[in-house]
Amino acid sequence: MPREVFEEASQAVLDFNGTGLSILEIGHRTNLFQPVMEEARSLVKELMNLDGDHEVLLLHGGATTQFMQVPMNLLNENELSSYTDTGTWSAKAIKEARLFGHVEVAASSKDKGYTYIPKDFLVSPTASYLHITTNETIAGTQWQTIPYDCGVPLVADMSSDILSRVLDFNKFGLIYAGAQKNMGAAGVNLVVIDKKLLGNVTRQIPTILDYRNHIKEESMLNTPPVFAVYVCMLTLRWLKRQGGAAAMEKLNEAKAGLLYNTIDKLPIFKGTVAKEDRSKMNVVFVMDDAASEKEFAERCKQEGMIGIKGHRSVGGFRVSLYNALKLESVQALTELMIDFANKKG
Ligand code: PLP
Repeated sequence: MPREVFEEASQAVLDFNGTGLSILEIGHRTNLFQPVMEEARSLVKELMNLDGDHEVLLLHGGATTQFMQVPMNLLNENELSSYTDTGTWSAKAIKEARLFGHVEVAASSKDKGYTYIPKDFLVSPTASYLHITTNETIAGTQWQTIPYDCGVPLVADMSSDILSRVLDFNKFGLIYAGAQKNMGAAGVNLVVIDKKLLGNVTRQIPTILDYRNHIKEESMLNTPPVFAVYVCMLTLRWLKRQGGAAAMEKLNEAKAGLLYNTIDKLPIFKGTVAKEDRSKMNVVFVMDDAASEKEFAERCKQEGMIGIKGHRSVGGFRVSLYNALKLESVQALTELMIDFANKKG
């Protein structure tokens, strides 16, 4: 996260806007917090260029809750939904959708260990929606071409690439994303929803899980995660100052380009993902043997570069290049990789 957000957030814990109160103790229905929620939601609208049909909600429960809340609100029991199976996260979404209705897997990259994004797939025209995971955080794949014209409403889990690039956000029926990677701190997640999609399911939806109630109450149906929403608002302000999604896209392309070029230049490192589907957020690579990986990991640790161990299901390394990571950090890592490779001869 950006340094300035940490500074502003810590100041607000001690004294929120000169009120003598901490952000952690102000009431959520006061005129101190309401402008925070309003600004956070309106910044999302502005940064995503959303039209009047799209509502912005900031909810509890993380993206994992959305795996079930989406089908609960959009899929009738006797109807079909379409899902693409591109990795751990989409597989979890599919599992939850099956609790509510029928699921067709329109395409899967499981055959090759989720190392690519399927290109040819057919979506049943009767499906209530198509679900994609725009960036698979563990596998390190990313949809570079969004299937906007799939013929049915498009639902996307954007948890790990939200606002990292310019997309036509109005062409999505529903977008959800945990805030903790590109938009703030853990504890809040974003839901952008085209309200025309709501009201079509026949089941009874518990009050707290019905999007319509959250829209009506302007994301204040119950006590919102006040501090997480505040950090989200600060991060969105920072994003706007940087130049929004377009500026982030440029920066993220520079960071990812530098790192992938270094991997491709040095034979001891190997990218695991099909080149055209490589993620600009999570760069996954391995080495030939466990001993070399251990040695490289040790070297990174000595240089203060931490948090790049790969997920246990893939192994190797995973370098996350979320919006707030500076190009200089990637430069430092690539210099270390070059030096390591040279010393290994
Ligand atoms: N979807 C994706 C793509 C993710 O990367 C993650 C977490 O890393 C999740 C969903 C789950 O998010 P949460 O932990 O906020 O429920």
